[in-house]
Amino acid sequence: MGGGRQSGGKGRRHSVFRYVVARGLLIMAIIFALGTAGTASLFNRASEEQELAERHLPALVTASRLFTNTTMLSALSTRLLTVDTRPEMLTLMDRIASRSAAVAAEIDALERLGLAPDKAERARQTHRELTAGNDALAGLTQRIMSVDGPATADRLEDHLLRRERLIHRQELLSSEMTTLVSGLTRETELQVVAFQENAVRAGTMMTIALAGGGVLSVIAVFGIYIGLRRHVLDRLSTMTDALREWRHGRQPTFVADTRGDEISEMAVILQDLIGIVDRRTQELSAQAQTDMLTGMYNRRGFQDRAEGELARAVRYGTPLSVLVGDIDHFKAVNDTYGHGIGDDALRHVAALWRNVLRDMDVSGRLGGEEFAALLPHTALADARLVAERIRVDIADGALVVEGADPLVLTISIGVATLEHGEGLASLLGRGDSALYAAKRAGRNRVLTADAAAESQMC
Ligand code: GH3
Ligand code: MG
Ligand code: MG
Repeated sequence: MGGGRQSGGKGRRHSVFRYVVARGLLIMAIIFALGTAGTASLFNRASEEQELAERHLPALVTASRLFTNTTMLSALSTRLLTVDTRPEMLTLMDRIASRSAAVAAEIDALERLGLAPDKAERARQTHRELTAGNDALAGLTQRIMSVDGPATADRLEDHLLRRERLIHRQELLSSEMTTLVSGLTRETELQVVAFQENAVRAGTMMTIALAGGGVLSVIAVFGIYIGLRRHVLDRLSTMTDALREWRHGRQPTFVADTRGDEISEMAVILQDLIGIVDRRTQELSAQAQTDMLTGMYNRRGFQDRAEGELARAVRYGTPLSVLVGDIDHFKAVNDTYGHGIGDDALRHVAALWRNVLRDMDVSGRLGGEEFAALLPHTALADARLVAERIRVDIADGALVVEGADPLVLTISIGVATLEHGEGLASLLGRGDSALYAAKRAGRNRVLTADAAAESQMC
């Protein structure tokens, strides 16, 4: 039965694996690969941005120093106008030169970082012009200090005029330089802050990606669990429940699914096995209750059915009668015709016995050549009539035996009806007593239990 369904199982051998494990592993592998690649790239970005921010951090200090030095330089230049002596002048020129060198170095440093190249370039040019202007101013101031006598009054006037023009130009340059440096400082600050913000953003994105990967992994594990439950666990538990039902003697109600994988195949085999075992059990139980020679119930089967009929009669208060029959002088049949003919005779009598009874009546061979019948809804008088018909049919229906005279058989039958509160053993016992009373009375007759009891008393 299950043979056809089992064929082709080899090709489907790994279907549960494919459904659950392979699919789950694939999802996990994809999540892992994407997660690793994404996290690695975000990590790289965050590190790069962080490094950029750290590398440009000194620019903030340089820019701030540049601003201070530019302002100081401008103040020192102004003091060129008020120096009176040559040593004072030389000291001031030294101070201007060292500030100027610091400003040039700071502009160079900022330019190297390349944060605001246009502004740095312009600042460097303006600074060069300012330095040249300062040198010229210093030269003029020295010349003014060394001019002597009235003859040189014109020259002095000329120097003072030139110095005034130069001072005016220097003031303009200084103001331009201050504006430039302030713009350069601001732009540098903005750039460094932008690097820092980028680094923080990349770090945040990395954290989000890691958390997302974790959530996806949890979802994947949950998905694998759901798949495992749907494709394996639930189906196995359905089978287990069915087997448990079956073990408790109830008919299992599961139907094998048609997914065609190993579990379906197992379910189909299980279903077939349950069917086979149930059928065999029924056959064996029927065999254990059947008399193989006549096909009637045997003693055990008869008693089982009789108990049911008796319970029903008691419950509904309906009459129930029993017939107990025994073939007369049957030993002689065996002795004369042999055991084979004896068996034929038993089958012959069984057929005649059953022929008179209704479908609802229960008949059985209790052993040897002894028969019994249970007649539901039948009172004693009717049961006696039925027994009489059986007796007559058997006496009249001789068995044709090949090569010998027809075999005439007779039967004696005892009849009893269920009395209030009586059990099956007692009812059968009274039927049996009536049978033996009939035997004693000469055989080939029917006697009721009442009549038998009366004749006993006489
Ligand atoms: P009675 O009229 O008193 O009943 O006499 P009887 O000979 O019928 O009674 P008895 O109990 O002495 O003999 C019954 C015989 O039935 C004995 C046995 O050989 C025979 N018998 C019992 N079972 C079978 C059977 O299955 N097949 C055959 N052929 N004979 C059987
Ligand atoms: Mg007998
Ligand atoms: Mg007997």
